[in-house]
Amino acid sequence: MLESDIRSIFKCVRCGACRSVCPVFEEIGWESSGARGRMLVALGVSQGLDVSSSVFESLNTCTTCGLCRQICPAGADPTGVVENLRHQLVLKGKMTDSQFNLHKKITSSSNSLGEVLDRKMWLGERINEVGKTADYVYFVGCLGAYRYPEIAALTFDLLKQFDVTLLPYEVCCGSPLIRTGFDADDLIAHNIEQIRIVGAHTVITGCAGCYNTLKNDYPKMFDVMHVSEFLSEHLSDLKLKRLELTVTYHDGCHLGRCNGVLEAPREVIKAICNLKEMKTNGENARCCGGGGGVRSGYPALSLLLAKKRLAEVPEGIDYIVTSCPLCLKNLTEGGSDTDVIDLVELVAFAMEQ
Ligand code: SF4
Ligand code: SF4
Repeated sequence: MLESDIRSIFKCVRCGACRSVCPVFEEIGWESSGARGRMLVALGVSQGLDVSSSVFESLNTCTTCGLCRQICPAGADPTGVVENLRHQLVLKGKMTDSQFNLHKKITSSSNSLGEVLDRKMWLGERINEVGKTADYVYFVGCLGAYRYPEIAALTFDLLKQFDVTLLPYEVCCGSPLIRTGFDADDLIAHNIEQIRIVGAHTVITGCAGCYNTLKNDYPKMFDVMHVSEFLSEHLSDLKLKRLELTVTYHDGCHLGRCNGVLEAPREVIKAICNLKEMKTNGENARCCGGGGGVRSGYPALSLLLAKKRLAEVPEGIDYIVTSCPLCLKNLTEGGSDTDVIDLVELVAFAMEQ
């Protein structure tokens, strides 16, 4: 275990504040399913505790939402301890079947969904509008390319008017591998070479997971923006019409709390319609349950977490808006009564009027 993680564990004064915010602890209820307990499990592993199925369950049910790190009064980082220990165990060949299968799927297909189809199918005839070089490039992401092609197309249509192009051959950013303990060096090296070919100084993405990974796990060779940040900087060029709608906004953990992109999506929404906040929001927003490999490893738990997030949606709104395809998928499949849409869909509504 890393020295910094041991220090983090010993910073914990066992106050239990993290138990009151961890969405997984609330659902499962065992001490080992909350931040404090996960750190004790991690300490046990560092001292020779057998890595049993219950140890994996403790470590791998964490969505890496970062809320415990945010509220910890002692400055401990349970999220980091969990992520780093997953990595240490994987390096020793210790992983669950779900982790093994996810790794196999991504390394064989270069996307997190195991798709064999062309990653740019969503482009259709737009293929002729893609520039070879540009200062800005739109990183679509696996979910955008394969599960939300309409959102990818809307995003590209919005961005191309500002001379934003695409990578010739984008592959998975590596987020699902890194968050579940694997290295993603090959994917990262491939995407960096693609960015170099395009000559872009800034990569724009519409996914919280891609944003977090491009920003924090790639070498600092280019700037990273979320689509919401780019759009908020170009609001006056977009000529958006005001709509008689009230929406709420769900902050993706890896975009909002973990990377501080909180105001830009709200600025875009407020330029279009009314915003009514969810019960927890901004840096304290509750997790949708989709991240950290929980969606793939523990789908039933993931959907229970989504339902709890949906219970925080305020009354009297027309849409739940989010800026992450994984949040959109999880909240929709969690059984939302209200349509969940991406921020760029709301922008498109305001441009159609
Ligand atoms: S909030 Fe921090 S100090 Fe308190 S129990 Fe959780 S990890 Fe330990
Ligand atoms: S990162 Fe989120 S899910 Fe993981 S222990 Fe902390 S609060 Fe719980």
